[in-house]
Amino acid sequence: MSDVPESHPRYVSLKLRDKIVAGVESGVTSIHGLMAHGRGEAFDYLIGEKTQTFAIDAIHVGAATLLLAEHPVISVNGNVAALMPDELVALSNVLEAPLEVNIFHASRERERAIRAHLNQHGAVDVLMPAAEAQLSFIDSNRKFVHPEGIFRADVVFVPLEDGDRCEALQKMGKTVVTVDLNPLSRTAKAAGVTIVDNVVRALPLLIQEIQALQDSPKGILQEITSQYSNSKTLQAATQWICRER
Ligand code: ATP
Ligand code: MG
Repeated sequence: MSDVPESHPRYVSLKLRDKIVAGVESGVTSIHGLMAHGRGEAFDYLIGEKTQTFAIDAIHVGAATLLLAEHPVISVNGNVAALMPDELVALSNVLEAPLEVNIFHASRERERAIRAHLNQHGAVDVLMPAAEAQLSFIDSNRKFVHPEGIFRADVVFVPLEDGDRCEALQKMGKTVVTVDLNPLSRTAKAAGVTIVDNVVRALPLLIQEIQALQDSPKGILQEITSQYSNSKTLQAATQWICRER
């Protein structure tokens, strides 16, 4: 870790970079993950590095969607594993949903490193991609999934998704709840619910919201989800970026 002083105006952002760099060095994160993180940083700058109302609204709906799911699954890639391992485990516990490793750049070694990293942070069981279960509509390594995980999920929480798979999951009839700082990305557009926020801010809020809603009757949760329009969320985020400075 670099010795960034806490007084530095970009302290939080630089600490996050340290986490991603540590992820690359320990084999959890792909080197390409550095660029994905940089793209995220640029959009975070544009939304004022704060959780805006369009994200709060989507977190509310995302929580309800995940609570209504029969078989929710949390998909984990190398960036989110490096940034938020404790929160991924906490989310898995509160939802009673499995964590499943799913990465874009094929590497058995890195898949195992992500599982070991999650185990070190308290995950008991982590599902791994398997050759026997494959998603339709997709050619990349992300098509390999676990038969008891993403393959039979009805709702998949996929922070920092790639657009191809998000589209494939939706085409297969699954609902995707994603966190993506870029409201213009294909992921953001294809998902059922897009939380346009930094995953490091959004994940703790999502866990809190799930806890707040978890005893709500099904009818209330259904009302929350039925009134939602993801395209309106993306429009609000894009307008905010274009106007608010
Ligand atoms: P598309 O969705 O259009 O196919 P992509 O997923 O291939 O694009 P990448 O640059 O590979 O694009 O993915 C990184 C995505 O993750 C970007 O949209 C970026 O904004 C987002 N991202 C990166 N870091 C974070 C973060 N910490 N929190 C939230 N989103 C992030
Ligand atoms: Mg994307």
